[in-house]
Amino acid sequence: MISAVSMALCIAVAFAAFGWSAHRRLRLLRAGAPAQRLDRIGDRIGRLFAIALFQKKLPRYLVMGPIHMMIFWGFLVLLLNTAVLWGRGFHPAFDFFGLLSRDHAIGTAYWMVKDVISVIVLIAATLALLNRVVRQPARMTKSAEAGLILLIIMTMMAADLAYWASQVYAQGITSFHATEPFASLVSMLFARAGMDVGAVTLLGQIGFWTHSVLVLVFLNILPYGKHFHVVTSLPNVFLSNLEPPGKLPGDENIEKVIAEAEDAPDEPVFGVGQIQHFTWKDMLDMYTCTECGRCTDNCPAARTNKDLSPKHLLIDLRNHLYAREKEVLAGKLEEKPLVPDVIKSEVIWDCNTCRACEEECPVMNSFVDKIVRMRRHLVEERGEVPSELATALRGMETNANPWNISRMDRDKWSSGLEVKAFDGESCEYLLFVGCASSFDDRAQKISRAVVKLLNEAGVSWGYLGAEEPCCGEMARRGGSESNFRMMADMTIETFKELGVKKIITGCPHCFNTFKNEYPDFGGSFEVIHHTRFLADLVAQGKLQPKETIARTVTFHDPCYLGRYNDGYAGPRQILSAIPGLRVSEAVDSKDRAMCCGGGGARYFMEEDNAKRVNNKRVEQLLTTSPDALCTACPYCMTMVSDGLKAKDLFDAKGQMDVAEMLAISCGLEDRKLLRETPPQS
Ligand code: SF4
Ligand code: SF4
Repeated sequence: MISAVSMALCIAVAFAAFGWSAHRRLRLLRAGAPAQRLDRIGDRIGRLFAIALFQKKLPRYLVMGPIHMMIFWGFLVLLLNTAVLWGRGFHPAFDFFGLLSRDHAIGTAYWMVKDVISVIVLIAATLALLNRVVRQPARMTKSAEAGLILLIIMTMMAADLAYWASQVYAQGITSFHATEPFASLVSMLFARAGMDVGAVTLLGQIGFWTHSVLVLVFLNILPYGKHFHVVTSLPNVFLSNLEPPGKLPGDENIEKVIAEAEDAPDEPVFGVGQIQHFTWKDMLDMYTCTECGRCTDNCPAARTNKDLSPKHLLIDLRNHLYAREKEVLAGKLEEKPLVPDVIKSEVIWDCNTCRACEEECPVMNSFVDKIVRMRRHLVEERGEVPSELATALRGMETNANPWNISRMDRDKWSSGLEVKAFDGESCEYLLFVGCASSFDDRAQKISRAVVKLLNEAGVSWGYLGAEEPCCGEMARRGGSESNFRMMADMTIETFKELGVKKIITGCPHCFNTFKNEYPDFGGSFEVIHHTRFLADLVAQGKLQPKETIARTVTFHDPCYLGRYNDGYAGPRQILSAIPGLRVSEAVDSKDRAMCCGGGGARYFMEEDNAKRVNNKRVEQLLTTSPDALCTACPYCMTMVSDGLKAKDLFDAKGQMDVAEMLAISCGLEDRKLLRETPPQS
C-alpha cells in the first residue's frame, strides 16, 4: 500500500511538473512565425526512421557516434523495463498481464535482450563520460549538465541491474543463466559475498526506487538544457525541411510589397530582426540542438577562426529566446535588434552558405535559411550591407553583373568561336554562361572549352550573348531579396520569351538557382550542370577523350554542385575517362568537402583575418600531392587559384576546370593550358 501510494505520488508529481515545463516550451513555439511542415507524411516518416531511429548521421564520428547510438537504442528498449518497474510500485509481480512473465516466450526474449542492453548502456555512458572528462573534444560544450546526465544514466543502469539481480537471487538462481546473463552474474556475486536474502532484497529495493525515481528526475531536467533533444529530436527530424536544400525560403512581406498587394502591411518587417520573427520550426531547432559541435567542427568560418560558430549561434539564439520568454509570449517587440545586440554582425556575414553544418547535424537543424533571413533584415530593412557587397549589388542593378562591367561586353569571351544566338525553334539547349564565366578572365577559358565540346558532340545549342541576364543568386545569398527578385523576374521573362526549355550551365550557383529556386517564381526549366551533360556525352561516345594527360589531379567539390545537388559523380566520371589521368581524392571530399570560401556572396566580400578559407582549403587539397587542382565552378577556380598564389604555388600546380581537361583530351584545346600543370619532378 505504501509502495503504491509512493509510486503514484512520484509519477503524478513528476508528470505534472514535466507537463508544466512542456506546456511552457510549447507556448513559446506557438509564438513563432508560421511554417508549413505537415506535407508529404510518407517522406517524413522515412526520414524519421533513417535519421532519427537508425541514427544515420552518427557513424560519421567514429568514437562518439556508435556510443550515442548504443545509448539511444538502449533507451528505446529500456522504456518498457521502466514501465514494468513503475507498475511494480503498484503490484510486485506486474508484468503486463503475463506477457512479460519469464514463462512467456516474449517475456523470456525481452528480459534477455534488456539485460544485455542495460549493461551496454552502462558501458556506453561511462565511455561518454570519460570522453568528456579525459579526451575533452573541443567541439563539445563543457557543461556540468552533460556530466550530471551521464552520471544519472549510469546510476539508473546500475540500480536496474541490482534490482533484477535481486529478483534472480530470490528465485534461488546463483549461477550463470543465459536468459539473464548479467543479472545472474551479479546474483552469483551476492552469493559469493555471503549476502542473505534480506540484504539482497533491501539492495534490490534500493535499486528499484533509485531507477524508478531517477527516470522521473531525468524527465524533468530535460526541458531546461541541451538534453531536451531526448524529447524534441524525433519531432524535429520528422518536421524538418523536405524542400531541396538549395531552395531558400521566400519573404512574404517582400512578395506583398513587390506585388503591391492590398494586404501588404503598412510597416512591413523584412527577414528576421527579432527573435519572434523566427518560425516555430526555427525555435524547435534551437530547443533540439544537442550542443555536439559537429556543425562548428565542419564550418569553414569556424575552422579559420572567424566569429561564426553555428553551434554557438544557435545556442545564443536559444538562450535569448528563453530569456525573453515573457516578452515573446506577450507579443512585445524588443527595443534592441537581434543583430548586433545578441548576435554580432560579423557572425552573420561570415557564412559561406556551404551547408557543411547542415550535412553533419544529427538532428537536422538548418542554418543557411536562418542566416540569410537575418542578412535579409539587415539589407532590406536597415540598409546595412558590407561595402564591397554593396558595390557588387549596385553592379547587378546597373549592368546585370556583380563586377559592374558594361553588359555590352558580356559576350566578348566568345570571340572567334562558333556560337549561335539561342532561338527556341532551332536550339534544344540554352548554354547559360553566368556572370563569372562571362567576365572573369580565367573563367572565360572554361566557357570556351565548353563551347568547343558542345560543338564537337553536335549538340543543338545557343546562347544569349550580350543579352544574357544575371540569375541573381549572389544577391539572394547576400540578403538582397528585392534585387534577386528583380534579376529572377528579368531572367525568367527572357527565357520564356525565347522559348527556353533546357538549360546547360557551368556555374553551380546559376544551376542551383534555376533548378531549385526559379520554380517558385514561375520559371520551371530542365537544368543540367555541364559536368553531368559532358559526362553523358562521353558515355554515349559523342565525346572521345583520346589524348593522354599523365597527371595526378585532386578534385575540389563545389558546395552548390555537390552538397546542394548531389553532383558528385559527373566530374569524376569525366576525369576517370581521360587516359593517363589519375584522380587522387582529397582528405575532405564529396559531402565533407570544405567550401572554397566563395559561397554565400563571400566571393565579393573581404576576408580580413589571417587565415582565409581558400588558403585552408588549398592546404587540404595539396595533402594528396597532386600536379593540378581540378574543379567545376568559376568561383571555386578563382578561390583555389588565389590560395595557390598565396602559397607561391600558382605556377607549380595547375588549376583546371573538368571541362578544360576533357577538351584537351579530346584534342579541342591547346595543350598549352596544361603547361600551367607541369608534372611533378
Ligand atoms: S553554411 Fe557553411 S559557413 Fe555557414 S554556418 Fe554552415 S558550415 Fe558555417
Ligand atoms: S546544431 Fe546540430 S550539429 Fe550543431 S551542435 Fe546542435 S545538434 Fe550538434
